[in-house]
Amino acid sequence: MSPARPPEGAHSLSEGQARSAKGAPVSHDVIVIGARCAGSPTAMLLARAGHKVLCVDSATFPSDTLSTHLIHPPGVAALARWGLLERLLATPCPPIDTYAFDFGPFALAGRPGTPESPVAYAPRRTVLDKLLVDAAVEAGAEVREGYTVERLVVDNGRVTGVVGSGKGGAPATEHARFVVGADGRQSIVARTVIPDEYHKRPPLCCAYYSYWSGLPMHGRFEAYVRPVRGFAVWPTQDDLTLVIGGWPFAQLADHKSDIEGELMKAFELAPSFAERIRGARRESRFFGAAVPNYFRKPWGPGWALVGDAGYNKDFITAQGIQDAFRDAELCATALDETLSERATYDDAMARYQRTRDNALPMYEFTCEFAKLEPPPPELQQLLLAMRGNQPAIDAFARVNAGVMSPAEFFSESHTAQIFAHAAAHA
Ligand SMILES: Cc1cc2nc3c(=O)[nH]c(=O)nc-3n(C[C@H](O)[C@H](O)[C@H](O)COP(=O)(O)OP(=O)(O)OC[C@H]3O[C@@H](n4cnc5c(N)ncnc54)[C@H](O)[C@@H]3O)c2cc1C
Repeated sequence: MSPARPPEGAHSLSEGQARSAKGAPVSHDVIVIGARCAGSPTAMLLARAGHKVLCVDSATFPSDTLSTHLIHPPGVAALARWGLLERLLATPCPPIDTYAFDFGPFALAGRPGTPESPVAYAPRRTVLDKLLVDAAVEAGAEVREGYTVERLVVDNGRVTGVVGSGKGGAPATEHARFVVGADGRQSIVARTVIPDEYHKRPPLCCAYYSYWSGLPMHGRFEAYVRPVRGFAVWPTQDDLTLVIGGWPFAQLADHKSDIEGELMKAFELAPSFAERIRGARRESRFFGAAVPNYFRKPWGPGWALVGDAGYNKDFITAQGIQDAFRDAELCATALDETLSERATYDDAMARYQRTRDNALPMYEFTCEFAKLEPPPPELQQLLLAMRGNQPAIDAFARVNAGVMSPAEFFSESHTAQIFAHAAAHA
């Protein structure tokens, strides 16, 4: 294990403070910083396993965050496993059972899920994150909203706690055997421990989203792929439809002054969609974002990272929420194994990292897609060959949903099957 590098100004424990047999001060088993898609499930699962958990967030809930919110079927399956899906559906939230990809000359529409988890949902983050926070509290975690961590406590290279405060309160120190950063891309944990980063890519596209009424979607997610432009549309709650569109990051400055005009020009590249949106009404302002792409080593002495804090990729394939759920489950399992002495910390956390990093093919697929370059000729041929082959189209929808690995979809044997089917039905 590489030791955590103490930040400038980090303070150590004074001699004589209470410590566990392993030398770490004890008041919580785990402190989780961040209480959204990664943090609350991590806290909830650890609390359900009987551990003493403190989860803090500088935000209060319900609150929104800069993110669209499509949850593909694997993320929905996680909510079902945790007993939270029924609550989400009661909010209510319309299902999405079809993913349609319009490439201009042709379109493909398939089913994104599996028999066990057939559909996606797109609840507002105000709803989803509040539901997750409540579930963590119900499980027995102590959740402090409006509480900001100012710095970590690092003792001989090991993270042993946090210094933070609630609104207007004086900073105080909290100790734990492990501190989990579920604190997003600007993670204070990552900034403190400076983990190794790998497969890094700069921001590749920038996109803007807004909410519209009068744009019914009938359970469909629609993505439109055009040269150096892409946009997607899907239903969310309150009879609203989310519309997001973007262009390569290199063009960020060129279009900043007229986002609406530039988006409308992009919509015109799909005339039937342009007509639909002309009859709809925009109900919110535009929210814009561009994000870097990276894997960070997600563990070290006394610390772990989950969600965007440890692994981030462009939002074009909308994987972040379900990836955060996956990390929460993997990391909580590894910490539970460690705390209950069923595995060593190093073994358990190395397993978490290896399993998380199996997402590499999806990460590469996402980064390619986010460049918004025209598909290379081989991919164009493959997409064309898929027309009329519903099982292949469904498989493509499942790739975009994170259900099927791009490595499997684009394997020689699978693509050969697609071309053979096309030849047989020519
Ligand atoms: C424009 C855009 C669109 C997206 N669309 C989708 C989509 O459709 N589907 C999808 O699955 N994903 C999407 N994503 C990705 C998704 O938003 C993230 O992957 C997801 O929010 C990660 O959750 P998280 O809990 O790791 O981090 P976050 O949601 O960033 O939460 C981190 C929390 O930590 C708290 N925090 C940070 N520092 C501190 C501190 N020092 N003290 C206390 N609290 C702290 C913050 O207040 C925050 O609440 C999108 C992202 C963007 C930017």
